[in-house]
Amino acid sequence: MAASCIFCKIIKGDIPSMKIFESEKVLAFLDINPLSSGHALVIPKHHGAKLTDIPDDQLSELLPVAARIARAAGADQYNILQNNGKMAHQVVDHVHFHYIPKPNEQEGLGISWPQQ
Ligand code: IMP
Repeated sequence: MAASCIFCKIIKGDIPSMKIFESEKVLAFLDINPLSSGHALVIPKHHGAKLTDIPDDQLSELLPVAARIARAAGADQYNILQNNGKMAHQVVDHVHFHYIPKPNEQEGLGISWPQQ
């Protein structure tokens, strides 16, 4: 845990979040400033700024959770993104995978997470 890290505060419950998944090593919650409805973040509970700072046993749980969210949300098209460093557009220095669903041409967003 890093005292000044906003995502560590979310993990501790000091800052509220719209949680959609939690396990011993992983937390997923809705992005506060979504790029599309259902935009979610998947983070390791271990604090580390970049992908290379996270132990393998934590890393290996992140993508399966992103895939579960994608499956459950049901959007046919989506991005999974992960930024490392300011030049790569990372704003929050705690590793996170973005799940960003794309609107379905026929059915709108076609997802079921609660709206923020
Ligand atoms: P980055 O640019 O990859 O670092 O993305 C950071 C993401 O964290 C952005 O999409 C923000 O909207 C999101 N974010 C920042 N603070 C919070 C929060 O308190 N709750 C949920 N999402 C947040």
